[in-house]
Amino acid sequence: MSTSENFVIVGASLAGAKTAEALRDQGFSGRITLIGAEQHLPYERPPLSKGYLAGSAEREKAFVHPESWYAEHDVELRLNSTASRLDRDARVVELSDGDQVGYDMLLLATGASPRTLSVPGADAEGVHLLRTLDDSDRLRALLPTISRLVVIGAGWIGLEVAAAARQAGVEVTVVESAELPLLRVLGPEVARVFADLHLQRGVDFRFNASITEICTSAGRASGVTLGDGTVIEADAVLVAVGVTPNSQLAEAAGLSVDDGIVLDSSLCSSDWRIFAAGDVANSMNALYNKHIRVEHWANALNQPKTAAASMLGQRAHYDQLPYFFTDQYDLGMEYVGYVDPGGYDRVVFRGDVPGREFIAFWLKDNRVLAGMNVNVWDVTDDIKALIRSQAGIDADRLADTGTPLSELTPAAD
Ligand SMILES: Cc1cc2nc3c(=O)[nH]c(=O)nc-3n(C[C@H](O)[C@H](O)[C@H](O)COP(=O)(O)OP(=O)(O)OC[C@H]3O[C@@H](n4cnc5c(N)ncnc54)[C@H](O)[C@@H]3O)c2cc1C
Repeated sequence: MSTSENFVIVGASLAGAKTAEALRDQGFSGRITLIGAEQHLPYERPPLSKGYLAGSAEREKAFVHPESWYAEHDVELRLNSTASRLDRDARVVELSDGDQVGYDMLLLATGASPRTLSVPGADAEGVHLLRTLDDSDRLRALLPTISRLVVIGAGWIGLEVAAAARQAGVEVTVVESAELPLLRVLGPEVARVFADLHLQRGVDFRFNASITEICTSAGRASGVTLGDGTVIEADAVLVAVGVTPNSQLAEAAGLSVDDGIVLDSSLCSSDWRIFAAGDVANSMNALYNKHIRVEHWANALNQPKTAAASMLGQRAHYDQLPYFFTDQYDLGMEYVGYVDPGGYDRVVFRGDVPGREFIAFWLKDNRVLAGMNVNVWDVTDDIKALIRSQAGIDADRLADTGTPLSELTPAAD
């Protein structure tokens, strides 16, 4: 690889910063420019709705690398800089300040943005989103000053903020269009665990509910009106209704885009000089033999190694199992695997479900598709082995805490 080559990365968050790191680790000695719209050093987002929001985790811990790392690794970091256009013929990234950055290879790590609501009052003061460090700073300053919060959306971020708010003594109402939290991702069996967790901590859920209006008083959010006319008063409202991939640049440049940037398993787009990683990447997963877009930390952490190798002309394929985690109150959990909504026929529990110390397995045709360990640790490798083996499973043994998980994979028989 020539040292005069220019590699450009658009999006300076976890996937972008980790790609710069992987390129250097894999011996690339050419120029790396990392372009990011935000003013902050690349940072990780999980603490923003957990320890950092609650005031227990330090800000510095969120940064992917200390500031000195970028100069030490000869990575040109251009913060506060938005890429506004790609010219694929000229191989140039245009920035919104008019600057142009030429590339030989380009990685798009533009991530995702929170969805907003299109109801009256949605842009009033006191209506919050949570994606950035600045969003988290605003919420962190807000929580000690309010007594009632409405959270719209019972997904991961909505529930994590609900937990942080309850722990700060705030009354929380969570409004959700489905009949349980996290229903699409987890199915009813495990979604109930999360409903119970929050109910026991005093969260007021409104399920099967829609929002028709965010009520305002003197221009500030003062509550929400539900589809049935109920008004819930609040001092602030958090909208946490999912994200959409930031694929506008790619789409305008004529790359293949379909719920994110469409990539092959080497993380290459429909242009062989352009790659993508992280939340914006809808990549062919060699293990599942289908395109999957994963909106989780581990994906943004791990895809860069594959993307960097591919950018350097090596044969690399991304086939990691999706993995994510959450912390809510005293519940910590990890989830590994992949299940289409409703794509399982049975959930097997192993351990103490009411005591919230268990593993749940999602099965189809007696094969494990995914597993979630709740307040049980150091089992991820065993769960991954079960999923990868695709072995027919004896559900009774799987449920029996006396049978080591490592004994259930065929290699162990
Ligand atoms: C509050 C919160 C909590 C989370 N908690 C968890 C968790 O507990 N577990 C878990 O697995 N996952 C969690 N996630 C998800 C995880 O953080 C994401 O999967 C991860 O941030 C994706 O990283 P990324 O680098 O692909 O994209 P992003 O983090 O979205 O970063 C993309 C960056 O690109 C920049 N950008 C976009 N367009 C341009 C442009 N045109 N020019 C320049 N820059 C641009 C953006 O400003 C942004 O800084 C959480 C997310 C949030 C928001």
